[in-house]
Amino acid sequence: MTQFLDVPNMARWIQRDGVEAILRTMTEYLEDDFRRWQSFDKIPRIASHTPFGVIELMPTSDQVTYAFKYVNGHPSNPSRGFQTVTAFGVLADVDNGYPVFLAEMTLLTALRTAATSALTARVLARPDSKCMALIGAGSQSEFQALGFRAALGIEDLRVYDVDPKAVEKLRRNLEPLGFSITIADSVAEAVAGADIITTCTADKAQNTVLTSENVAPGVHINAVGGDCPGKTELDSEILNRGRVFVEFPPQTRIEGEIQQMDPEFPVVEFWQVLTDAAEGRRSEDEITIFDSVGFAIADFSALRCARDATADLQSSIDLVADPEDPKDLFSLVSSLKPVG
Ligand code: NAD
Repeated sequence: MTQFLDVPNMARWIQRDGVEAILRTMTEYLEDDFRRWQSFDKIPRIASHTPFGVIELMPTSDQVTYAFKYVNGHPSNPSRGFQTVTAFGVLADVDNGYPVFLAEMTLLTALRTAATSALTARVLARPDSKCMALIGAGSQSEFQALGFRAALGIEDLRVYDVDPKAVEKLRRNLEPLGFSITIADSVAEAVAGADIITTCTADKAQNTVLTSENVAPGVHINAVGGDCPGKTELDSEILNRGRVFVEFPPQTRIEGEIQQMDPEFPVVEFWQVLTDAAEGRRSEDEITIFDSVGFAIADFSALRCARDATADLQSSIDLVADPEDPKDLFSLVSSLKPVG
C-alpha cells in the first residue's frame, strides 16, 4: 500500500502545526539535503511548453529514495478561475521501485518555496534586515511573508501588485497574524527603504518588474517569479551589480533571471555557501540575488518533511497492483466474468 496525504489533510497539518513552525522544520530538512547536494541525481526539470503555460516533471534521487513532482505554471489561469501553479508528488523506495508516499503539492510547493527563500535569505540577507518589499500578492505571497518572519523576524511588509484585489486579500490574510502592511502604488514606492525585495509575479513575459535604479546597495533580492524560459522579472543590470546565487545552474540558466545573461555568467551554487565552499554575503553594501526557480531536491526535502510529520493524517491507498505471485499479474483479473 502507498501512504497518501490529500488536500484536506495537508491543510489540517498546516493548521495544526502552523505555517511558521512547519517552515522552520522544513528549512532543517532543506539544509540537510543541500549540504549533501553532491549525493543526488540532478537534471534540469522536464518541461512541456505551450502558449498557455508549462507542465513540468521534477525528478531526483539520493539512491535510497526517489522523488518526483508534477507541477504546472499557467500565468493566465487566475483570469479563468484556475490557479497559476498546482502540483502533486511522490516518494518511492529505490530498493524495489515501489511508490511509498503520494501527496498533494500545491500547498506543499508554496511551503517549500517559502522555506527555500527563507533559508537563502537567512544566509544572504543583512542580519539586521527589518523590512521586506513584496512585489506580487498572489498564491505564494503569504507563505513568503511567513517564511521571512520565521527566518528573520520580518513583520514590516511593503506590498505592490498590479491587481488591487490581490493586495487586499494579502492584507486580509496577514494583518490578523500581526504583520504591518503598507500598500504601495508602485514598485518604486514599495522598495524604497526595504532591506529585502521579493519579486513573486506571474506573467509569461520578459518583464522588468524591478529596475536597477530601484535597488539600493546592501539589498537582498529574492527573485521567485521568473522560473521559465521567456519569463523574467529583473532588469539585467541588477544581475551585473550583485552576486547571483542559484539552486542548480543548468536549470537556472534555462529558466531563471540569468537566462538574460551570457551562458558563462558567473553564479554561486547555494549549497556551496552552506558547506563553506563559497562565500555568502561579503559586505554590508553588497547586493545579493537569489535567482529562485525551484529545484527537485527542495521538493524531495518537502515531501520527506510532510511524510514524517503527518503519519496520523495519511491514508493507505491501493496505488500499485500487487498480486500474491509477483509473476501472476493476470490473477488480479482472471476471476472476472467474461464481458458480454
Ligand atoms: P499568482 O498568479 O497567484 O500571483 C501572481 C501575482 O502577480 C498576481 O496577483 C498578479 O496580479 C501579480 N502580477 C503580475 N504581473 C505583475 C507586475 N508586473 N507587477 C506586480 N504584480 C504583478 O501566482 P503565484 O502562485 O503566487 O506564483 C507567482 C510566481 O512564482 C509565478 O510566476 C510562479 O510560476 C512562480 N513560482 C516560483 C517558484 C519557485 O520555486 N521559484 C515556486 C512557485 C511559484
